[in-house]
Amino acid sequence: MDFIDLKSQYKMIESDINKRIKTVLEHGKFILGPEVSELEKKLAEYVGTKHCISCSSGTDALLLPLMAYGIGKGDAIFTSPFTFIATAEVIALLGATPVFVDIDPRTFNMDPDKLRKTIKELKNGKKISQGTPNNLCAKGIIPVDIFGLPADYDSINSIAKEEGLFVLEDAAQSFGGSYKGRKTCSLADVASTSFFPAKPLGCYGDGGAIFTNNAKLASVMDSLRVHGKGSDKYDNIRIGINGRLDTIQAAILLSKLKIFDDEIQKRQLIAGSYSKDLAGKAETPFVPDGYVSAWAQYSILSDKKNQSIVKLNEAGIPTMVYYQTPLHQQTAFAYLCYEKGSMPVSEKTSEKIFSLPMHGYLSEIQQKEIISRL
Ligand SMILES: *Cc1c(COP(=O)(O)O)cnc(C)c1O
Repeated sequence: MDFIDLKSQYKMIESDINKRIKTVLEHGKFILGPEVSELEKKLAEYVGTKHCISCSSGTDALLLPLMAYGIGKGDAIFTSPFTFIATAEVIALLGATPVFVDIDPRTFNMDPDKLRKTIKELKNGKKISQGTPNNLCAKGIIPVDIFGLPADYDSINSIAKEEGLFVLEDAAQSFGGSYKGRKTCSLADVASTSFFPAKPLGCYGDGGAIFTNNAKLASVMDSLRVHGKGSDKYDNIRIGINGRLDTIQAAILLSKLKIFDDEIQKRQLIAGSYSKDLAGKAETPFVPDGYVSAWAQYSILSDKKNQSIVKLNEAGIPTMVYYQTPLHQQTAFAYLCYEKGSMPVSEKTSEKIFSLPMHGYLSEIQQKEIISRL
């Protein structure tokens, strides 16, 4: 059994994918070829934003908006400690400081009450942690749609407005999900997603995309993506990066986009039967009314986590632990000197959480097997 079954998916669309790759090999426009702009147009339509800028990874999709906002030394960006390293890494990479805000125990997403409190504390000069510099300037918020479930954007956006901050939605795991009728990637000032193969919409390598309705921001990010280009890439008006999506990856994504809504539908059914059959045996994921998860992961909480993992693995059923170590406890962020117990919900969640196989090709028989082993 695969944790994420990309082989079955490939079998489904093999001839279309092969044909599209061949087309690219034949036209030879490997960098920013016609498939890239076609994909950007389709993705923007899909999520309902004016602009989509594809890029080389979900990490660069987070980095480019921060660069466009001019984030650097002395700036504070509020984010969740219960996420993949990339979310906070890009903040530190630019010389700014990630300020962690603990999560809600049921959604595992940033807790808006704690966000409001932490912003006030920072603005009032309270010490955030031993290693967090004094006198940081609050600039923005990166909420993460963890496991595919959107964060609480009504609350977060309204706090951001009051405090004069921008919001960058980290939708690396939630492409295909929605919040109160609106698709993820359209829920904040700017949003980023990832096409890493294991994400809900994955390519066959690295890839990502950025979404916004802000034309000015879009044009700066478009320039930053190609070495800070001006009228062309040999006219350089700012310091940028090489952050383009390969044409071959765009071609693959165009093919996968055609079956994507069906896959998201199947993930809903699979998550539904997991939650029904595991009720009372483990803490199953909570999806608030009006939210649709893209089910990047199906994660449960159990006091017998280690025992369950051993049992499942012995039966040939793969499991993963997202996340073993919250970011404030990662060695890379040791310089911030967060104390143990400073993010109690994230720390407790990390101890009890693990994820079960989840993808659109999980059969009923496989799922029955997983549930019975549990
Ligand atoms: C995967 C992921 C990223 C980074 O995406 P890459 O394409 O691997 O660079 C960022 N944030 C979150 C929450 C992720 O899960």
